[in-house]
Amino acid sequence: MSKIYDIIIVGAGAAGVFTAINIKSFNPELNIAIIEKTSQALSKVKVSGGGRCNVTHACFEPKELIKFYPRGNKELLGPFHHFQPGDIINWFSEKGIELKIEDDGRMFPVTDSSQTIIDCFHSELKRLNIPILFQQKVEKINSENNEFRIITSSDKFICNKLVVTTGGFSKKEQYNFISELGISIVPPTPSLFTFNLPNNEILKLQGIATPVEIKLSDSKFEESGPLLITHWGMSGPAVLKLSSWAARWLHEKNYEFEFKINWLPSFNEEELKTTFEKWKQLHGAKKISNHFDFSIPKKLQTFLLNKANISEDTKWADINKQQLNNLTEILLSDTYHSKGKTTFKQEFVSCGGVKLSDVNFKTMESKNIQGLYFAGEVLDIDALTGGFNFQAAWTTGFIAAKSISED
Ligand SMILES: Cc1cc2nc3c(=O)[nH]c(=O)nc-3n(C[C@H](O)[C@H](O)[C@H](O)COP(=O)(O)OP(=O)(O)OC[C@H]3O[C@@H](n4cnc5c(N)ncnc54)[C@H](O)[C@@H]3O)c2cc1C
Repeated sequence: MSKIYDIIIVGAGAAGVFTAINIKSFNPELNIAIIEKTSQALSKVKVSGGGRCNVTHACFEPKELIKFYPRGNKELLGPFHHFQPGDIINWFSEKGIELKIEDDGRMFPVTDSSQTIIDCFHSELKRLNIPILFQQKVEKINSENNEFRIITSSDKFICNKLVVTTGGFSKKEQYNFISELGISIVPPTPSLFTFNLPNNEILKLQGIATPVEIKLSDSKFEESGPLLITHWGMSGPAVLKLSSWAARWLHEKNYEFEFKINWLPSFNEEELKTTFEKWKQLHGAKKISNHFDFSIPKKLQTFLLNKANISEDTKWADINKQQLNNLTEILLSDTYHSKGKTTFKQEFVSCGGVKLSDVNFKTMESKNIQGLYFAGEVLDIDALTGGFNFQAAWTTGFIAAKSISED
C-alpha cells in the first residue's frame, strides 16, 4: 500500500528541511513528509564552513548578490527581491538564533557551531510535526493525473505536490529519477578547485601569498585577488573564483590549460617601463635586488628576476633593453601551464543539474510538470564560497514553500 501525503519533499538537506518548515508554517493543515536516502538529515550543514556553517553573506542588494553566482545569476535576481540574506537573518532571529558578520562579509551563528542551525531546524520539524522518513532512496517518480507516485528503495508514496531537493550529484546518471520525468539536466562538472602545476619551479615558493590578476589564455575569464602558491600549484581566492566562473570551459579543456599572472595589478606596461627608466637613472650603480621597490614578497622577486634571466647582483645601469622587456612581460603577463586540479578543502560544489530555463523562478515549479518543484543545489545554480550556496538554498526553498502554500 502506498503512503499518501499532500506534499512530499525529497532530500533532507538545507533546501529540503527549510522548504518543509516554511510550507507547514504557512499552511499547518497540509500533510507533508520529507524522504531522505541516508540515515541522517542536514549532513552537509553539519560539516559546512569548517563545522561553523557559513549561513549567508552580508550582501543585501540583489544586484550585487547575483554577482557571486557563476550559474543562476540572471534567474536569482527576482527571487532575491523576495528572500535575501536580510530575510534569512530575520528568520533565524525569530527562532532565537543570532548570526554574526565576519570582516569579509561571511555570516555564521554567534555560537560558531553548525549544530546551532541543525538544532533549530530539528526543533522546528518537531514543533510542526513534519516527519523525515530515513533510508528511503527515491528511485522512480511517475507523474500522472495530477499526482506523483514515488518508488523508493523500500516503500511507495503518493502525493499531489512534489519538491525535489536532492542536492548536486557528480554523475549525470544520478539525476535519472528526475530526467525520466522529461526534465532537462545540464551535465555536472566540478566547480571551486585549485590549479595543479606539476614540476614547476614556482612550487618551491609554497606558502607565499600576494594579490594578482589572473587570466585564462584564449578565453574571456579573468579574476583578481590574493593568490597562494601551494606545494601542488596555485590556490587562493583569485584561483577559486576563476575555477568557478570558468568551470565548464576548464572541464572542456580536460583541465590542461595556460594562464597568465599579472604580479603587479596596479601597473600597466607604460607605467612599468617609465618606472624602470627612472630607477636606472636614480640607482644606476646599485644592485637591482636592493632597489626593486614593488610590493612583491622578496623570494618571489628573486624567482621572477631569475625567470627574466637577470641576476640579483646586476646593477640597474647594466640592464639592457631586452632584459627590461623580458622583466616587464614576466611581471605583467607571466605564463603557466596547468595540468589537473585539486579540490579545495573538500568544499566540492558541482555546477550542473536541473536546467534553469525549465523552471519558473516566481514559484520554483517546473514549467512542464504541474505540481513539481525544485530548490537548492539540484538546480544548475552554484556560487563562490562565502555563504552564497546556502543562500540560494534558502531563497529557492522559501519561494517554493510560499507558492505551494498559497496554491
Ligand atoms: C564540505 C562542504 C562545506 C560547505 N560549506 C558551505 C558553507 O559554509 N556555506 C555555504 O553556503 N555552502 C557550503 N557548502 C555548499 C552547501 O553545503 C550546499 O550548497 C548545500 O548543502 C545544498 O543544499 P541542498 O539541500 O540543496 O543539498 P544537500 O545538502 O546536498 O542535501 C540533499 C539531500 O538529499 C538527499 N538525497 C539525494 N538523493 C536522494 C534520493 N534519490 N532520495 C532521497 N534522498 C536523496 C541527500 O542524502 C541529502 O541529504 C559546503 C559544501 C561542502 C561539501
